Amino acid sequence: MIYLNGEFMPIEQAVIPVLDRGFIFGDGVYEVIPVYSRRPFRLGGHLDRLQASLDSIRLQNPHSENEWQELIDRLIKLNEAKDQSLYLQVTRGVAKRDHAFPKTVKPTVFIMSNPLVPPTAEQINAGVAAITAVDNRWLRCDVKSTALLPNVLLRQLAADAGCVETLLLRDGMLTEGSASNAFVVNKGVLLTPPKSNLMLPGITYDVVLELARANAVRHDVRNISEAELREAEELWISSSSREILPVTKLDGTAVGSGRPGPIFQRMHQLYQDYKMQVMRVADV
Ligand code: PMP
Repeated sequence: MIYLNGEFMPIEQAVIPVLDRGFIFGDGVYEVIPVYSRRPFRLGGHLDRLQASLDSIRLQNPHSENEWQELIDRLIKLNEAKDQSLYLQVTRGVAKRDHAFPKTVKPTVFIMSNPLVPPTAEQINAGVAAITAVDNRWLRCDVKSTALLPNVLLRQLAADAGCVETLLLRDGMLTEGSASNAFVVNKGVLLTPPKSNLMLPGITYDVVLELARANAVRHDVRNISEAELREAEELWISSSSREILPVTKLDGTAVGSGRPGPIFQRMHQLYQDYKMQVMRVADV
């Protein structure tokens, strides 16, 4: 079951007009929200980021936070899986094709749920392979825009190479992955780039940094050079659907020992414990 413009329906019945600006221009924004045990994880953070994305593209939020919460709760109930991945999209609606905004805007609102597919034990225990590429995206990578052609092309480079992610370098500095944020461990210190217009402010990124702070994991938020990336003792990617994954091979070369490192293992445990704790609190 999905939600589209005021109605819940089976996905097969959901249709949008061909003049939707999401279809014509990629003129829209989106969120992906994980649901554990039927409860959305860090929903406040996702709704705040949605608001920031909408503000950036000058589109009025069609719903209050309470309305979003209600729609999301109803959709979770209408779908069977305990753990779900919600995809939520708002576009600038349907209008005669013209780049400039239409005079009156009725946004298209779409939410779907898919069963959440967590990383496999094999991926967590052995790590995954990634490649690097030049970050050739626009300068507003902080906007979670549905216009993802550069990310699609960059991710396909990884798929072509039998890898799971493409890590991006802009002016010799690590920005993020095609669909994830990036963390590096150098000299025992966890490093990640500061939030800026050059990367998406990840919700999982926030969780990792909060856990590092709360548990005295040595860390620093600063720019990471390509040389530091290539010398990394550990390399991880983070996203709502993949949580934290260790990258043990980069451009065909082993990262550090070639196995997931001790700081990854610690953070992975902290993350799982945190998830459990949040779910328990939500129970009350
Ligand atoms: N960067 C990009 C480009 C992404 O697409 C994603 C995943 N949506 C992330 C980072 C990670 O963000 P989050 O932890 O909120 O899923």
